[in-house]
Amino acid sequence: MIEVTNLKKVFGPIRAVDGVSFTVNQGDVLGFIGPNGAGKTTTMRMIACLTRPNEGTARINGHDILKDSLGVRKSIGYLPENTPLYGEMTTISFLGFVCEIRGLVGAEKVREIERVVQVCSLSEVLYQTIETLSKGYRKRVGLALTLIGDPPVLILDDPTAGLDPNQKRDVRRLINNMASYKAIIVSTHILEELDAICNRSIVIHRGRIVADGTPAEFREQGGGRIDDFFEAVTRGRE
Ligand code: ATP
Repeated sequence: MIEVTNLKKVFGPIRAVDGVSFTVNQGDVLGFIGPNGAGKTTTMRMIACLTRPNEGTARINGHDILKDSLGVRKSIGYLPENTPLYGEMTTISFLGFVCEIRGLVGAEKVREIERVVQVCSLSEVLYQTIETLSKGYRKRVGLALTLIGDPPVLILDDPTAGLDPNQKRDVRRLINNMASYKAIIVSTHILEELDAICNRSIVIHRGRIVADGTPAEFREQGGGRIDDFFEAVTRGRE
């Protein structure tokens, strides 16, 4: 469902992404890890058609990011690091607004709002304005927006950042529940999250893939510890 081929992106002298290739199939939850500034967000933004690569391309659900950005956008739910939300809107009006942008109206819109409200446990804050929500609830609203229209591909940039332990657990459960019928990329700085939700992971360092394997393989190569493995493949190359 996601085929990334030799993606490159430069910002002036900075090689943010330097020839990244990988594939993610339906049923895969791919963990994206790497030090700060490694190129994770830039890679995800290129896949979601939010920034154009200097070289390379990607196909999402059969749609090329360079030739068919509309097809790509229809196939993807993208949760950015900081979701831009309209603070003065209530949760329910914002969900309705995004449904309409995605072409869902009438009974379909009502059903879709009910579905994402239930999936993201938002019923308590439906009539509260976004600006008065806690950080965790804002994140949940962001996630609900990402799920509207049930896109087959999800790109989630640090989806559990800022959530309390119970909410982190809820989001991980939610990802697990959707995993079998979607292709999902999740970036995270929490290495245990790889075990909790990912069946495969890629380590990015200085714009390049320096490791690709299962969390179990990473642990084994780190002598029983994923953090030792992470340090070895990232610090060792500075
Ligand atoms: P983090 O874990 O800190 O979120 P990341 O792996 O997501 O980092 P990116 O945000 O992709 O890293 O950044 C990769 C590099 O590209 C960094 O050096 C960053 O400063 C640079 N960069 C990203 N966006 C821009 C931009 N719009 N203009 C200039 N440089 C940028």
